[in-house]
Amino acid sequence: MTVKKETRGRKRLPPEKKKPPQATLKINDFILPFVKELKGNLKKGLVTEETLERLFDILRTGQNQSNHSEKIGALKDKIKKLDDLLLKRVMERDLAHSKSVDLESKVHYWKAKYDELKRDYDDLLHREYDCMAMTSDGKRCTKKAVFDTFQDGLLFHVCSQHAKVLEKRRRNMTTN
Ligand SMILES: [Zn+2]
Repeated sequence: MTVKKETRGRKRLPPEKKKPPQATLKINDFILPFVKELKGNLKKGLVTEETLERLFDILRTGQNQSNHSEKIGALKDKIKKLDDLLLKRVMERDLAHSKSVDLESKVHYWKAKYDELKRDYDDLLHREYDCMAMTSDGKRCTKKAVFDTFQDGLLFHVCSQHAKVLEKRRRNMTTN
């Protein structure tokens, strides 16, 4: 009697290539789609330790406790709000800075204006109240005018020294 060689089915693997026996499990139809999806993802390399942890979390507690994305979303919102606030503060600071620069330039402007007016005022005071005579070096005398004196029908304010000079000259003119 010859033993017929078995040719049906899968070729037998050599012993070193044999896979360890896999657990077989009856799966309820209700959860079958889930198991299929999980197996499919596993094949695609999409199932990590963390994925399993999260799935177990949901199964054990009824909620996804390790849902970081929600927390990350909340943190991102917070950061965005802080960013906006910071931007607002920076803009306020810049505005205040530019305002102070503006004020500073105005202060400089008015200070220059004041100095100018003060000079004019001093000039006018000098014209009005200082001696109107010329000194020997051709400049106007800077002494306070204390006398009013008439010369050729005009009124001059002069200091006591120039009043004496003019008086002397007038006397000379009348005696000549
Ligand atoms: Zn004088």
